[in-house]
Amino acid sequence: MNLVDRPSPNFNDRPADKPVSILLLHYTGMKTAAAALERLCDPAAGVSAHYTVDEDGTVYVHVAEDKRAWHAGVSYWAGETDINGISVGVEIVNPGHEFGYRLFPNRQLDAVADLCLGILGRHAIPPHRVLGHSDVAPGRRQDPGELFPWQDFAARGVGLWPGPSSAPEPPDILTLQRQLRDVGYDCPESGIADAATAEIVSAFQRHFRPGQIDGIADAETAGCAAALLQRIPTK
Ligand SMILES: [Zn+2]
Repeated sequence: MNLVDRPSPNFNDRPADKPVSILLLHYTGMKTAAAALERLCDPAAGVSAHYTVDEDGTVYVHVAEDKRAWHAGVSYWAGETDINGISVGVEIVNPGHEFGYRLFPNRQLDAVADLCLGILGRHAIPPHRVLGHSDVAPGRRQDPGELFPWQDFAARGVGLWPGPSSAPEPPDILTLQRQLRDVGYDCPESGIADAATAEIVSAFQRHFRPGQIDGIADAETAGCAAALLQRIPTK
């Protein structure tokens, strides 16, 4: 792996009482890699990540893993809101949905996978807590987005994939809401297919059923959620 030091001043101490338990993937969402690197290291911007992986596979190291980098913003997963405090953040260079979302080159993905496997080897992060920014901030964020090959990464040992799944018919909405909450999403349990639920369903689809991202809780989405839950160990 081609590691390059590019330190960022944007970090602080992690909470003393909680171990690192999430690996959070992003895309940079800026026009160029240079602009993203500059922002992630700019004290005035107040944002960072532990690493940025460029499209050529170069890995820029910004913040030590034992420090709290600032990449998640307002976010939630499985009862936790200080996601920065308990996660390692990896930025993947891509202009994103705003500036021309495009396929991640293979050499970039190979570097991301290598980096992630190293991180997973250094921290007790279970497969079901390898997440995208869109999972923890569904209304605000779409990254790393539906072009990120989550299924392939799960096969490489990075993350969890529900596998073949089906459900005979569209679900009872309250059942699906509870399943998505059990997965970790900040899903309402209203029993109503409201706008907040559609945001969560879209986020789930973006990660686990990227063929159709419409926020509609169809039978396949429900099947994926049920299959995923079966693979997540109960607490
Ligand atoms: Zn992000």
